[in-house]
Amino acid sequence: MGTGRPALSCSGGADTIEAAAINESTMRLQSSEVSPAAAAATVDATSAQLRQFIDLHARLFILTGAGCSTASGIPDYRDAAGNWKGAAPIKHQAFINSAYHRQRYWARSMAGWPAMRRAEPNAAHRAIARLQERGRASALVTQNVDGLHLAAGSDRVIHLHGRMDRVLCLQCDTHFTRSYVQELLTDGNRDWVQDSVTVRPDGDMELGDVDYSRFSVPACPVCGGVLKPDVVFFGGAVPKPRVERARRRLQRSDAVLVVGSSLMVWSGMRFVRHAAELGLPIAIVNQGVTRADDLADLKLQGDCADLLAGAVDVAT
Ligand SMILES: [Zn+2]
Repeated sequence: MGTGRPALSCSGGADTIEAAAINESTMRLQSSEVSPAAAAATVDATSAQLRQFIDLHARLFILTGAGCSTASGIPDYRDAAGNWKGAAPIKHQAFINSAYHRQRYWARSMAGWPAMRRAEPNAAHRAIARLQERGRASALVTQNVDGLHLAAGSDRVIHLHGRMDRVLCLQCDTHFTRSYVQELLTDGNRDWVQDSVTVRPDGDMELGDVDYSRFSVPACPVCGGVLKPDVVFFGGAVPKPRVERARRRLQRSDAVLVVGSSLMVWSGMRFVRHAAELGLPIAIVNQGVTRADDLADLKLQGDCADLLAGAVDVAT
């Protein structure tokens, strides 16, 4: 199976999240190549294909992305052609090196956190939890930082990019809950005006044209150091042990199921690429093109919640 597959050139270091440099004309070409048959298929028919794939492979390596959480009210980063929606997310180096970028980040995050905290898991999360319960998942690896797999009852989740509900100090490494840090943020910024309601996938929020230099960023209550959400920003490194743990699980898997990721970042794409090298069957459920469409044995277009709910009996 692997021999006929095209070689992929992936940018970014092995342990660094880097947005893929996708040629725009290539993206347009791919997006116009969406199979008419797939577009015409009903959700039921598409779900049936997914169910068949799931039934055929006993141990699934499940990799989820932002598309898995859109039905929970947390929007995707990218449109159906794989391009950014709105401003690109914050870069790791900008957060580390610039006090102004930290002000901007925390101001937006303070505004976005309540909505993220209220978000509830959807049918896709529940279906995946049910697959785990049945012993059908060799691994659940997510690029999402929203914690919704845990909320749906999944355990043994590998949070590739960390978790939004935790904050760490870059100096003394003390961990805090995000809820506690939210109190520090709101206490220190009582007069801060929230002038927008556009939530982003990482809890970040569009606030329009505001002067972030007035925003007061809390320091670590233990040592006065810089606080950072326990998430991997773009340009930041996924911890090696986390990657290796997922890789070991992949080697004990029969197939890969990607749910709601365009695989534009290498941190997730690396596992699909490795699966292809191992000759494992790959199914992708996503709204729009992905970077691994050429590697997939089964590519299903559509809403993740609808398709997963149709393919997995969540009520039994
Ligand atoms: Zn500290």
